[in-house]
Amino acid sequence: SVVTRFAPSPTGFLHIGGARTALFNWLFARHHGGKFLLRIEDTDKARSTDEAIAAILDGMRWLGLDWDGHEYYQSQFWARHAEVAHKLLERGHAYRCWMTQEELAAQREAAQRDRKPFRINSPWRDSDKEGEGPAVIRIKAPREGETSIDDRVQGKVTVQNAELDDFILLRSDGTPTYMLAVVVDDHDMGVTHIIRGDDHLNNAFRQLAIIRAMGWPEPVYAHVPLIHGPDGAKLSKRHGALGVDAYRDELGLLPEAVSNYLLRLGWGHGDDEIISREQAIAWFDLDHVGKSPSRFDFKKLENLNGHYIRESDDARLADLVAPKLNLQGEERDLLVRAMPELKARAHDLGQLAEGARFLFAKRPLDVDDAAHALLTDEARPLLAAAHKELESLNEWTHDAAEQAIRKVAEAQGVKLGKLAQPLRAALTGRTTSPGIFDVLVLLGKSESLARIQDQML
Ligand code: GLU
Repeated sequence: SVVTRFAPSPTGFLHIGGARTALFNWLFARHHGGKFLLRIEDTDKARSTDEAIAAILDGMRWLGLDWDGHEYYQSQFWARHAEVAHKLLERGHAYRCWMTQEELAAQREAAQRDRKPFRINSPWRDSDKEGEGPAVIRIKAPREGETSIDDRVQGKVTVQNAELDDFILLRSDGTPTYMLAVVVDDHDMGVTHIIRGDDHLNNAFRQLAIIRAMGWPEPVYAHVPLIHGPDGAKLSKRHGALGVDAYRDELGLLPEAVSNYLLRLGWGHGDDEIISREQAIAWFDLDHVGKSPSRFDFKKLENLNGHYIRESDDARLADLVAPKLNLQGEERDLLVRAMPELKARAHDLGQLAEGARFLFAKRPLDVDDAAHALLTDEARPLLAAAHKELESLNEWTHDAAEQAIRKVAEAQGVKLGKLAQPLRAALTGRTTSPGIFDVLVLLGKSESLARIQDQML
């Protein structure tokens, strides 16, 4: 049965490319009823931080990517990595190497002089002698023939074995390299499918050398093209190479929107743009992962987010927005009531909060320039007439308010808009808001009348 894994190095935050890799692995496992594992690759102790680990776990939970069992930490398995390095040594697939930095540098320079790619040529590879002091353990990489990978995304990819080098498995201090650790862990955890960024494709050939030397089953590889910026260049901060936490906190996006967007970024199901989690699980496959890099498109992400905001439950949205407005108990109820109107107009939670701000504003209202321009000398008497009519209402409903305002416009001989615009400016301090009758109802009678009064004199 299928076992996938996400194996982030906790040296930075969970960036958007990593989140997509996690999502693809998660979907593939869930589609096949298999397991999805999380392994934190903290072998680089100097660069791994607890903060980064927390951000990765947090980001995955936010995106709803639950992993099976507990998370693994690669550094827990160092003894096992060393054991495998020594097995390779015993079986003649690896050797101890005492080459000095000077010797390595000399070979590198010679390669440069001859304009040849540098491949280490260790005198210890086929020697029975022992050197002095601590040694590294290197793989004895095949030198003849070629190695092919039937990659599920890239197709068949072949390298000449002469291009592979005798890379280090175990450093002289006994710590494993990434190349060894990743192979041992994937094998021990029974990983069947390795889905990751295509920046790891070259590593796959080296990793296969270890797998074959150990006689282990070979996993299926799927190397997914990286995400590029809208201009086709490498994804930069400005273009969305941010931590997932920034998508939540700074951009105000919903996890289902980010997740839907990431799915479409590199995988397709016909022309479908809006794809639910259930559909994604039912449909996800490796055959429809794109072969060329996808381009990040903020506009598309924003539109998707707008869609998911409109679909979202009002109480949930209120809970997400309330902290941005520092609301207290009762104010939250008002926010929930206003939400059907507010969410129709917002693409992100920040816009949603901005749209709601007028509900909780204190008098006298802070009126923006565009709204101020509507509060003219001609508008004031109209507002006064509206105030009078509204004040006389016994019932404060959408329909009652509408009838009253239409009546005033007619009596004053103006089109409805001529009255509604300054009314909106007076009630909200803005030129855009939910429908004016909804605004009146939401604010309530006394607050509405007071705000109108503030502007009509
Ligand atoms: N830890 C590696 C990284 O973060 C990934 C290893 C892998 O997926 O094989 O790039």
